[in-house]
Amino acid sequence: MKFDDLNGRVAVVTGGARGIGYSLAEALASQGCAVGLLDRLPDVETSAERLAADHGVPAAHAVVDVTDPGSVSAAFASVGEAIGTPDILVTAAGITIWGDAEHVDRETWGRVIDVNLSGTFYSTQAFARPLLEQGRQGSAILISSMSGRVVNVPQHQASYNASKAAVDQLAKSLAVEWAPSLRVNAIAPGYILSDMTRQFTEQEPELAAQWVDAIPAGRMGDPEDLHGVVLLLASDASRYLTGQTVVVDGGYTAI
Ligand code: NAD
Repeated sequence: MKFDDLNGRVAVVTGGARGIGYSLAEALASQGCAVGLLDRLPDVETSAERLAADHGVPAAHAVVDVTDPGSVSAAFASVGEAIGTPDILVTAAGITIWGDAEHVDRETWGRVIDVNLSGTFYSTQAFARPLLEQGRQGSAILISSMSGRVVNVPQHQASYNASKAAVDQLAKSLAVEWAPSLRVNAIAPGYILSDMTRQFTEQEPELAAQWVDAIPAGRMGDPEDLHGVVLLLASDASRYLTGQTVVVDGGYTAI
């Protein structure tokens, strides 16, 4: 698929060292976007080098914890200096920590909310500031989850579910506040094979089988199954689409 208006634009992807984030960075690079990868993992440097080598686009990186707003602003500034001011954002940095709700401690609860909700906000804020100041257009795509609207079973992950529901409402709120300059949408994936989920599918195959049983598409998704939607939301092809969450889950939430 080709979205010609993406050629030469600048994107930042948080959580871009691996998994869904890296795959979505590849989707954008395949259209000719320069891409900045932000991640707390030092591997993000190698990921950026690989992206540039495989797709022949400028790539930059910064090691950053998205829960620290000052560092996030600095990371956006350094990526901006290297490859230009980003006008596309994908926030894929996220974590899940399972546990029975009645025993979850303050630190665990806070970490999940901090990374998934606050980190998403700080990243989107740092992205938006220069564009709003310069009166420019841009598109932010927040990676939420189907867990923001349904409760996954059998695992217990209340903090994750609540954080992703909040991300959907954050996307709506920012979309209204920053229109008409910036569009803000979310993508809510279903079960996707990534580093996050592979630990479960490999160590607990019967658990993965239970998940797959509930997916009408009959399989877990691949990160590539999100490419079409991310490109559509990044591109001017969706110029009148804002404040929405697009669910990409193989039909899981349709039942
Ligand atoms: P992953 O663990 O493979 O990748 C997440 C990336 O985020 C990692 O590179 C990690 O280092 C980075 N990260 C985590 N905390 C960070 C922090 N504080 N600062 C900076 N970077 C940080 O997971 P994934 O499956 O690729 O998930 C990507 C996003 O997609 C997450 O937001 C996740 O909640 C969401 N999601 C995943 C699935 C799934 O089934 N895999 C489904 C729905 C939504």
